[in-house]
Amino acid sequence: MKKELLRSLPSTDELVRHGPLAEAARRSSPALVRAAARQAIDDARQGIMDGARGPASADELAASALAVLTGLLEPKLRRVVNATGTIIHTNIGRAPLAARAVEALATAAGAVNLEYDLENGARGERDAVVSGLVSRLTGAEEAIVVNNNAAAVLLALNTLAEGREVVVSRGELIEIGGSFRLPDIIRKSGCVLREVGTTNRTHPADYDGAVNPETALMLRAHASNYRVVGFTAGVGLRELCRIAARRGLPVVEDLGSGSLVDLARYGLPGEPVVAESIRAGASVVTFSADKLLGGPQAGILAGKKELVDRMRKNPLKRALRADKLTLAALEATLRLYLEPEKLASTLPVLRLLARPLDDIERTARQAACLLRDALGQGFTVEIEGCESVVGGGALPGHTMPSWAVSVSSAGMGADSISRLFLSQRPPVLGHVSRKRFLLDMRTVEDAADVVPSTPLK
Ligand SMILES: *Cc1c(COP(=O)(O)O)cnc(C)c1O
Repeated sequence: MKKELLRSLPSTDELVRHGPLAEAARRSSPALVRAAARQAIDDARQGIMDGARGPASADELAASALAVLTGLLEPKLRRVVNATGTIIHTNIGRAPLAARAVEALATAAGAVNLEYDLENGARGERDAVVSGLVSRLTGAEEAIVVNNNAAAVLLALNTLAEGREVVVSRGELIEIGGSFRLPDIIRKSGCVLREVGTTNRTHPADYDGAVNPETALMLRAHASNYRVVGFTAGVGLRELCRIAARRGLPVVEDLGSGSLVDLARYGLPGEPVVAESIRAGASVVTFSADKLLGGPQAGILAGKKELVDRMRKNPLKRALRADKLTLAALEATLRLYLEPEKLASTLPVLRLLARPLDDIERTARQAACLLRDALGQGFTVEIEGCESVVGGGALPGHTMPSWAVSVSSAGMGADSISRLFLSQRPPVLGHVSRKRFLLDMRTVEDAADVVPSTPLK
């Protein structure tokens, strides 16, 4: 029986002559269409051998070959609609870029003066387009850019402390997720970790007592995605800088998200501001460009010129450097900060953070209307208050009131509804909470974005 079914399968030669595939071969690449046809036949053969499949007609095989072809030719990285309410969502690309940054990306796709000094007609410095802006916005003497903040920490430690000891409070030995664990980064930088204090309490004397001839620097890391509450004590940056200065040691601060403006301006609790760390005396501060800053993925190192210059000359910098697209988008994003009064409209991260609740509610009502029409009977669509988070390790534990559209059905569970929204073009990403599928509208500015392109079934 199986043998007969297997024998009934067409050969690759026969299948590629089949109407729609022959047509596809003319439009695309004959070799690629042939490979897709072979895969469709192989899949059918496997299905028959596993007993999972019956006979396959030439039409069916051609259709699956075309699906294989589409899968190969269509981009896998696609736009998704963020209806999670999490503004800086690591799984969907963190900060949405500003319009200016998107324009800059397109410009940088061609030839640009990346490492070319147009004034002198000679070789230039890659980071020059952004270092001046970072200095102006943070008060740091010098700045460079690398691939991400993990790379920035690695470069800082390797440059300033390779083969020597790095002093860190036990309460700051963080794991960010996605395999960023501070102890690992310290080891991979070629440094020796010197832990001081306890998980919940570290005192000035702990730092002071750890210093020995092998000590290279003191490291401070922002706790980012968690908070220690209760009986706690830490050493402020200013005090740590005083202790380090007495011993002639630099202080490196990993700010994580780090903000270039005080979020209190937008009614949000304070997240550390880079300029404050520089003012408090940090020798080098590292932070991500795609978290609160609202730019592309990059890591920024800002601080004392003598130290940052040493990092620039480290061969690791070459391995960790940012590309022209990143630098272009970052430059455009940083320029927005020169006009802080307009930031709440020009920079999407801040616009979504500072979004008025009644604006979110209005969008939720519109979306609910559109969804009721589009989904028809069988689905219940309502709006309700909810809480959104910033994400990206920023403002841990802080939630903001928001409005969500809930979609439920008597005949279908929340997880199934969630999968149906994910199968849309573009996919709509919400979340399931207490067995209900919710679309948090804080991160959706156009209600039509969450409406399915095809009927849900
Ligand atoms: C997010 C974060 C990092 C990692 O930054 P990436 O830009 O994701 O590499 C490192 N340290 C802290 C404190 C963070 O919050």
